[in-house]
Amino acid sequence: AVPVALVCAMSRCAQQGVLIKHGGALEKLAQLHTLFVDKTGTLTSGKAHLVALHPAPGIGADELLRLAALLEQMSVHAIAQAVVSAALERGIDLALPEQVSESPGAGLSGRVQGRALRVGSRDHVLQGAALPAWAVPFSERIGYDAVAGVYVAIEGRLAGVLLLADEVRLEAPRALRLLRTLGAQRIVMLTGDRHDVATTIGRALGVDEILAEQSPASKLAAITAARRQGVTMMVGDGVNDAPALAAADIGVAMGARGAAAAAESAQVVLLVDRLDRLVLAVQLAQQTRRIAL
Ligand code: ADP
Ligand code: MG
Repeated sequence: AVPVALVCAMSRCAQQGVLIKHGGALEKLAQLHTLFVDKTGTLTSGKAHLVALHPAPGIGADELLRLAALLEQMSVHAIAQAVVSAALERGIDLALPEQVSESPGAGLSGRVQGRALRVGSRDHVLQGAALPAWAVPFSERIGYDAVAGVYVAIEGRLAGVLLLADEVRLEAPRALRLLRTLGAQRIVMLTGDRHDVATTIGRALGVDEILAEQSPASKLAAITAARRQGVTMMVGDGVNDAPALAAADIGVAMGARGAAAAAESAQVVLLVDRLDRLVLAVQLAQQTRRIAL
């Protein structure tokens, strides 16, 4: 009777847009203990939109957007997609970069028309250099407003800062509350983003712990450490979440908009772009467990 109940539950989940790759994952879903959630693209919509362009003196706003989009077109990151959409909406022509590489959770670097270009987080772009004075107010605004900031540098000089509004998913607060009633003893936000931005969003959502400025490796380490306390679940969307998704007892990928690497590393894939479907899957898993035992 056990496999039949499992198969039924898995197919009911699939009807709701939750792909459960094997029965073992369903059993673990029912025993959720520690919940780890990524921020950008997971707790936030992944449909960010451009709100401001702050170019360096001597650089035009469209030129800044073009430089950013040249590299961002090679990334599936939620922020990258928003930058590219904004450029295309303005009719900006995007050539292909001659060379490009992505550092998951940080940004991209490459060469365009023989010039070195970097796009992404402040650390990734400035590489330890000081922030020029003109950029200080814009950089501070990122923290106050909890927006996403994208820095752009050409030949090692800051070319500008883009600000993108990245809204918390409408269903996120309720989904986290329900997951708590379903057994999540501790909810931890794991993000590659800055401390100030992460704190504003994490507090609003009432998470228990906020781990910011996390690399793919440190996300993985946080989960490995928590596995001793009970069943861990990691929910994420990005290439930078893939190691953590693979390390958790249950990896859940935001499949509809997320990176293919995330979906491959996870045992559960949300085919519908909604966090509340995960609540449904846990409820079904717990009902199934009661029937099967
Ligand atoms: P999270 O872990 O919350 O999903 P990420 O680690 O994906 O966040 O990104 C953290 C930060 O790294 C972003 O806020 C952004 O500053 C920067 N970043 C990462 N990838 C990109 C990219 N492709 N373009 C611009 N910024 C990026
Ligand atoms: Mg993410």
